[in-house]
Amino acid sequence: MTDLIERLRAICGQPHVLTHDDPASDLSAWEQDWRKRSRGRALAVVRPGSTAEVTAVVQACAATPGVSIVPQGGNTGLVVGSVPDDSGTQVVLSLTRMNAVRAIDPDNLTLTVEAGCVLQNLQDVAEKAGFLFPLSLAAEGSCTIGGNLGTNAGGTQVLRYGNARDLCLGLEVVTAQGEVWNGLTGLRKDNTGYDLRHLMIGSEGTLGIITAATLKLYPLPAAQLTAWAAVPSMEAAVQLLGLAHSRLGPGLTGFEVMGRFALSLVDRHYPHLRVPLWQDSPWCVLLENSDSENESHARQQFEALLEAAMEAGCVSDAVVAENIAQVRALWHIRESIPLAQAEEGLNIKHDISIPVSRIPAFVAETDALLSREIPGVRLVNFGHLGDGNLHYNVQAPEGADGKAFLRDWEDKVNTLVFDQVARFEGSISAEHGVGELKAHKLPTYKDPTALAMMRAVKQALDPQGLLNPRKVLA
Ligand SMILES: Cc1cc2nc3c(=O)[nH]c(=O)nc-3n(C[C@H](O)[C@H](O)[C@H](O)COP(=O)(O)OP(=O)(O)OC[C@H]3O[C@@H](n4cnc5c(N)ncnc54)[C@H](O)[C@@H]3O)c2cc1C
Repeated sequence: MTDLIERLRAICGQPHVLTHDDPASDLSAWEQDWRKRSRGRALAVVRPGSTAEVTAVVQACAATPGVSIVPQGGNTGLVVGSVPDDSGTQVVLSLTRMNAVRAIDPDNLTLTVEAGCVLQNLQDVAEKAGFLFPLSLAAEGSCTIGGNLGTNAGGTQVLRYGNARDLCLGLEVVTAQGEVWNGLTGLRKDNTGYDLRHLMIGSEGTLGIITAATLKLYPLPAAQLTAWAAVPSMEAAVQLLGLAHSRLGPGLTGFEVMGRFALSLVDRHYPHLRVPLWQDSPWCVLLENSDSENESHARQQFEALLEAAMEAGCVSDAVVAENIAQVRALWHIRESIPLAQAEEGLNIKHDISIPVSRIPAFVAETDALLSREIPGVRLVNFGHLGDGNLHYNVQAPEGADGKAFLRDWEDKVNTLVFDQVARFEGSISAEHGVGELKAHKLPTYKDPTALAMMRAVKQALDPQGLLNPRKVLA
């Protein structure tokens, strides 16, 4: 192992290889996951500065028996995918030094960047060039495009622009053999066989290391307006979604649902955010209209939509943001729910998807089952309703000890919720991935033939099990 560390230092430079042997190095930022569910111990943290260095690191690790690699971007993943185990034999390969913008092609509407670029910086680069890069999520100030592609991240704009995979045209990948696959194409059409790009995207660092990507750009909208609507039921929220689709068409770029208890937590822990309309209604919806004409057109469309929704009885009250500060404030409330929930105490999280049409029945049945099992249980339910994606989180009864609640209930609650998800033909991971956290659940909830094909792909591309072992496939 000492030889390996020396080789890694020769490849990347002494300052870019951190180990526990150096008392000045604190590796916790790379070893601890964002939710603090797991703290591992790395053999080393390696921060290569180029694709050539990544290939050399992979080759060096592959040649050292017993060593494996954990690719890492911003380490904001929520399923324990980006941190090492406690064996002390895993090298964390952090891509954050690889953050160059390689090219922008305005006529082809593409941007080619390195994997360690922070998402928010990419959005800024695109905007400065007069374009929109639409991937957007609350971790955008820290997460990297490599991690976004590694997890096929979703976020708030999926309804209109798709997941990370829909925004990516090409990839550069270092394979488990330490070779470079140059797939950095900007082509929108290329039917020359298996689509390796889609195999790599969402593989959570288990099939290859993404070192660069060619991404799609879109025109910037002329105006973006946000409305906040109180709705009397989840059925009404789904009805409002249908109306919004038909009246706003492609202008509908966001449709988030938030339950009363979720909003009450924001109100309790961040009272300065002034949550509107939450007290009198079981659900609120945040809608975003991105208009290619101008703001008054967007406003007219919104007002007509909300009027029709009120007439149809699916909205009881609504506000439309008057200016950009109000737009940001409304989104900030939505994005503060996970933080308010963490302030309230430990909870059991589920990132699930269900066909939109079946969400009202799923929520009613699952809420009732959980309330029967755990009297006083509190349900923090919010999410990207436009994509059929709920963050269906289960909080201990008021005053209960969070740690004891997790110890006694986590497994049972997960089984209850995931069984319900399966019954409603949904997915137990909508956008966060599988990581280590859910790997043991796949044999129960994934189609067995699909799982066998996944194992065959892993075996073919990484027979040595070098890349992120025990993540995704337990
Ligand atoms: C506050 C908050 C809000 C969030 N909101 C959303 C949301 O709305 N939608 C959503 O989808 N997700 C959300 N997430 C989770 C989301 O998955 C991550 O934020 C993001 O996509 C991961 O990027 P990262 O750079 O932090 O990757 P990491 O956490 O470092 O890694 C995630 C996974 O990708 C792999 N990986 C990382 N880089 C590479 C690479 N270059 N090549 C191959 N594999 C790689 C890792 O091995 C790991 O398995 C949120 C997270 C937080 C903390």
